[in-house]
Amino acid sequence: MIVTIDGPAGSGKSTVARELARRLGFEFLDTGAMYRVVAWACLYRSVDMTQAAAAADVAKQVRIDLRDDRVWADGVDVTDAIRTPEVTQGASIVATHPGVRREMVRQQRLLARGRNVVTEGRDQGTVAFPDADCKFFLTAAPEERARRRYEELKRAGRGDLSFDEILMQIRERDQRDSQRADSPLRPAPDAVIVDTTSLSIDEVVERLESHIRRRQTDATTQPSTG
Ligand code: C5P
Repeated sequence: MIVTIDGPAGSGKSTVARELARRLGFEFLDTGAMYRVVAWACLYRSVDMTQAAAAADVAKQVRIDLRDDRVWADGVDVTDAIRTPEVTQGASIVATHPGVRREMVRQQRLLARGRNVVTEGRDQGTVAFPDADCKFFLTAAPEERARRRYEELKRAGRGDLSFDEILMQIRERDQRDSQRADSPLRPAPDAVIVDTTSLSIDEVVERLESHIRRRQTDATTQPSTG
């Protein structure tokens, strides 16, 4: 079974997807981390990431491993290195290139094949897994998303950006993610849309989980049409 969760930065997707996967006993796929690895690798190799062909070559060459809650690029643990503001903005730049996206989607489908997965990103329900069993789209007001990111960075001891700077970066990324020509950020027509602005993480997880459990029950009790 494939469960997709899409939405903008700071909508709570990652935390929710991780917890949901844990409760369901599914695997968790953080597709944003994959774009971050490509951006990191471009910076590391001094490749101009605004150049579509060069960035697509990097996407094809770099070996991305997501295991045990850590992220590896060509065998190097980049879990922390891919969370810097530079890589964060870079990820949304490499993500505009169709060649990069094609490669990421190819790898995502391979990773999910034959597995029970909760996958999280921007295009999971629309492009990567259009036939997914359950699709969700999480949203929240930009100010609330910036507030969450600000608190998260502060907790991690990386509070070097002000709230206003974070809000500006979030708006910038929203703009780039939703305006790009290839796979712009938008809900799949059959996605359940959840506004998380005034909900706690637990409330969001509960809501999604009960939806999925209902789906699972329906699937097992519905008479076969075959
Ligand atoms: O989710 P996260 O903030 O880690 O994603 C980093 C960037 O990667 C996003 O801003 C977006 O541009 C890109 N992305 C994407 N498609 C996905 C996941 C992430 O375009 N499925």
